[in-house]
Amino acid sequence: MAIQTVLIVEDEQDIRDLLAFNLKREGFAVFEAGDGNLAVSLASEKKPDIILLDIMLPGMDGLSVSKALQRDPGTAAIPVIMLTAKSEEVDRIVGLELGAADYVVKPFSVREVVLRIRAVLRRNRIPAEAVALRCGPVVLDAAVHEIRVNGAPVELTITEFRLLEDLLRHKGKARSREQLLDTVWGYSFEGYARTVDTHVRRLRAKLGDGAENVETVRGIGYRAKDAV
Ligand code: CA
Repeated sequence: MAIQTVLIVEDEQDIRDLLAFNLKREGFAVFEAGDGNLAVSLASEKKPDIILLDIMLPGMDGLSVSKALQRDPGTAAIPVIMLTAKSEEVDRIVGLELGAADYVVKPFSVREVVLRIRAVLRRNRIPAEAVALRCGPVVLDAAVHEIRVNGAPVELTITEFRLLEDLLRHKGKARSREQLLDTVWGYSFEGYARTVDTHVRRLRAKLGDGAENVETVRGIGYRAKDAV
């Protein structure tokens, strides 16, 4: 397998050095940026497999960097793991639909960061099946990464897309929050259940007429309606 590349975006030199040192030791190739502008240009030039992005940066902050990456078709598909100093910021990360693949709250252990990176990369390697999944008016085409409701395209974040894909692949069967966390986010632990709920709420809002095809299964989780 080709060597996987990580772009570390962090203005604090100590933390950047620590991450770079350990990621290299884990076999990754590493690029480093100490500010947002450099991060955006390095990302589009080097096309790393994954980006570790600190939120608090001088000048262009992490949230702006993330938006800029998503606007550029050349970098939009690169998964981003956000580094945040405050757990309050987690709500903003989840809430702003930045399409962050994951986040890590500082202070973090390097081991935790490496595990998250591996989980996200593993998830991204799963090949898309070239079959459209259908549930009532909702059609998901994994091969071209497209959702349509009654024929009209719907824009979803990467996470919402994966969530819907998992539910549709198990149509008619209840999926627990833990199962969804496992396949969509790549890991699960307690306290993350509300993350699933938040994303399902948002997904339903975007599905419009298709919303009722994502059913709540009381005490368990969610299910795609058993509809043709
Ligand atoms: Ca910082």
